[in-house]
Amino acid sequence: MRLLAHPFALYILVLGLGAIIGSFLGMLVYRLPIMLKRSWEEDCRTLTAHRETDRPHHVFNLALPPSHCPHCQARLGWMENIPLIGFVALRGRCHHCHTPISPRYFLIELITTVAAGMSLARFGITFTALLAFTASACLIALTFIDLKEQLLPDVLTLPLLWLGLLVNIAGRFASLEASVIGAATGYLFLWLVYHAFRLLTGKEGMGYGDFKLFAAAGAWVGWQVLPLLLLLASLAGAVTGLALIAFGRQGRSTPMPFGPYLAGAFWLALFYGRPLLVTYLQLAHGA
Ligand SMILES: [Zn+2]
Repeated sequence: MRLLAHPFALYILVLGLGAIIGSFLGMLVYRLPIMLKRSWEEDCRTLTAHRETDRPHHVFNLALPPSHCPHCQARLGWMENIPLIGFVALRGRCHHCHTPISPRYFLIELITTVAAGMSLARFGITFTALLAFTASACLIALTFIDLKEQLLPDVLTLPLLWLGLLVNIAGRFASLEASVIGAATGYLFLWLVYHAFRLLTGKEGMGYGDFKLFAAAGAWVGWQVLPLLLLLASLAGAVTGLALIAFGRQGRSTPMPFGPYLAGAFWLALFYGRPLLVTYLQLAHGA
């Protein structure tokens, strides 16, 4: 196609698609935890043999109800549904009741747009770029759900893990061997750390979702990159935690989700694993 041969036109197209997918992710981050909680409550009701009448009536899934203001229930117009532009045009407020809209939507759309552009810049017009962007989208959703709900849903972490194993059958990001070992050791390692920490301190420092996310990282980038990935995630987590405590935004004992740091380091390793590893080894040898 002639149009796609022009880099500028190609970038505009990819960034636009990124923004649209970002808009979907913003909706997913809001709705998926609610859908999961409803389904867990439903399971509890079944187990405790409660009456059918206790069940909530309204349908709630990824498609229904249509996007609306959570405050006044006004439906979003076509203009407000345009990713990025809608939020700016409304100056971050509902057109009807002027209640501020969470900047989370804008942020997710922006980050997804950037991730789409970076996938193209890093991997070119390839299937690998599409896979890298798919993983990025999944990591963005996981990051924001974990920040919001302290939850890394299995419906996202497990497909991400399987996909990582599948893409590496062709050795796209790591050899199949490194990928399989990465998935298993990733899970096992955090599982061991978790239980050791719990035995020593009586506290739970992580959740099972973190093990699954780390296993997914191992499946995508291979076991060799996992130590560096964990080091980056822990450093970023520690620095942010200390900064939040120093600025009085958070108490010492407040639990902090680890998923966003794992997801960020996972993303870096996926895109820049090899140069990162080389730099790290050079630094380690030089020191
Ligand atoms: Zn409103």
